[in-house]
Amino acid sequence: MAQKRLVRLADLTHLKTVAKGPWQGPAVVGSMQGFPVAAAWNRNERQSQVSFLVRFAKGSWSAGPDGLTTFASASGELRQALGKKAVPKALLKSFKLTEDGLLCHWPFSLFAPKPEAVATVLKVLVGFAAKAAKPVAEQCEGCGRETREGLWMADGVPVRVCTPCRASQDEQARRAQEAYESLASNPMAGLLYGLLTGMVLAVLWGGLAFLIHRIFLWGAIGIGVALAWSINRGMEKVNHFGRMLTVLLTLATVLAGDYLFILFSAAREVEGGLSLRLAIVAAQHFFEANFQNGSGYISLLFALVGAGYILYMNRPPRFRVTYEPLG
Ligand SMILES: [Zn+2]
Repeated sequence: MAQKRLVRLADLTHLKTVAKGPWQGPAVVGSMQGFPVAAAWNRNERQSQVSFLVRFAKGSWSAGPDGLTTFASASGELRQALGKKAVPKALLKSFKLTEDGLLCHWPFSLFAPKPEAVATVLKVLVGFAAKAAKPVAEQCEGCGRETREGLWMADGVPVRVCTPCRASQDEQARRAQEAYESLASNPMAGLLYGLLTGMVLAVLWGGLAFLIHRIFLWGAIGIGVALAWSINRGMEKVNHFGRMLTVLLTLATVLAGDYLFILFSAAREVEGGLSLRLAIVAAQHFFEANFQNGSGYISLLFALVGAGYILYMNRPPRFRVTYEPLG
């Protein structure tokens, strides 16, 4: 079904279907009036939508930053193509102008827009580009020289870049990669930052839980986030040691906080209050007390989610663009 409407859209627009377009999934891609374009039905978080991309020569947009939304809100053609009395607000809000293209998303809920409608909207958008910007046409977007190579897909985005320019980009990427790899990590600072943050957070987590008699799982996520962040700050460039340290310290911090909570709670119950003997007894019974109802595992899991999020955000940069010829 999904594939069928893409093929139909490709037929209508004389474009090609590709397995991975600008929005990761399958898309229809090609050139219309010299403008590289792409369109696809996809999902953004929970919203189903049809996404459009029309690329033009870099820096050639002449209708100002608001020109695009002005075109869109005033366009009878667009309203007709959408089959609406007015251009939907969500679509208008999604219009985005970059230095070399325009983007928008047409959200829908129950019924996906038909290929015919999508084809017409795409044509209208290409019309906007033609009104205000220069087409990429046969010019290489890197050096401006004429190229007969056809379009290439650069990480899913249709571009026109000649072979020498792709080669020099590769060379630059290789150098940037080398420069990144030669950056030093500072594992001792990472360890120190992590330990300090972990100690403060463990006391906060255990103390707060004791005072308000409950735990917030958001707090556990926060522990993971804060630890990963501070270890990253300390290490500057994170390596496998840093990632392992983050995971271990996150687990240790939550466990230490849980232990403090159990210790404080026990101290209130027994005569004599907080003592070394009580601390040892609490430690001996820690695992059964903390994990018998499963809540201990859940806070550990949430803390790891928080740490994982930061590690993901700080993953090593990608320097190389993958080029594939568009047939
Ligand atoms: Zn070139």
